[in-house]
Amino acid sequence: MASSVQPAPETWIAAFNRAADRVRDRLSEVTADADRLAETGTTGEGGDRTLVIDAEAEDLIFAELDALHEQGARFTALSEERGTVDYGSPDVLLVIDPIDGSMNAKRGMPHHAVSIAVAEGPAVATTGTMADVVCGLVADLGPDERWTAIRGAGAWLDGAPIVAAAEERLTSAGKLELVAIESAHPAHVMASGEALLEHVHRLRAVGAIAISLCAVAGGRCDGMASLWRCRAVDAAAGQLIVRESGGHVAFGDLDAPLDSPLDLVAHGPVVAARSAAGLARVAQLPHG
Ligand SMILES: [Mg+2]
Repeated sequence: MASSVQPAPETWIAAFNRAADRVRDRLSEVTADADRLAETGTTGEGGDRTLVIDAEAEDLIFAELDALHEQGARFTALSEERGTVDYGSPDVLLVIDPIDGSMNAKRGMPHHAVSIAVAEGPAVATTGTMADVVCGLVADLGPDERWTAIRGAGAWLDGAPIVAAAEERLTSAGKLELVAIESAHPAHVMASGEALLEHVHRLRAVGAIAISLCAVAGGRCDGMASLWRCRAVDAAAGQLIVRESGGHVAFGDLDAPLDSPLDLVAHGPVVAARSAAGLARVAQLPHG
């Protein structure tokens, strides 16, 4: 039996990249509309109807986790479909969305991601928050971009350090030039309409919270907001990538921005921006 030395962040991320490769390759095989649209007939622990591709992606990721465990890693896994799985330690928590942007994946729209974060701390599996996340990967399988971050060390896109402006781009009218919205149900868009008009010049609705967060990390968007509550599995990796790129993130409460539990319940909306001033503006967009 292997010694139980916990993986370094680079080791976790390498394993997550291998898992994302497997998911990408499997999805590329599933091209028939009927196959991508198929549902398993069950509902995941996270509450969404489970697609066959979601369940298969999760199986591929857990195969990598099984291998890490075999090599001595001890942790708990929290995943959208399976819920909590005990791999021998409550002090390391992997927060997994096998496919963020399932609707895009099933409809053949490009942006959908594997999102995996690692959180560390005493009993983090039951009491952890976003502040406990130490590293993560968002693998956008549309363009096959790999966004990664290690707490205190930085954020990278395809292995190169992310260099993004410290300030958002404003139009001559003082609005944020480009803002990504998630949970873009028409009712939410309407309810947020006044704030969107006040603060935003142009909207983008990518359809995957993890990928919208990465767009802020890379300076592609000036901010993002989920217009309704979000779950930790969608945002745990992306929020660290934003912060390590020099950006700002909050979950519902600007006074305790990272105090959001790592569980499968929907909590406060996630908002992100390049600057604190930008964050204060996008924080006015959600109504959930
Ligand atoms: Mg998902």
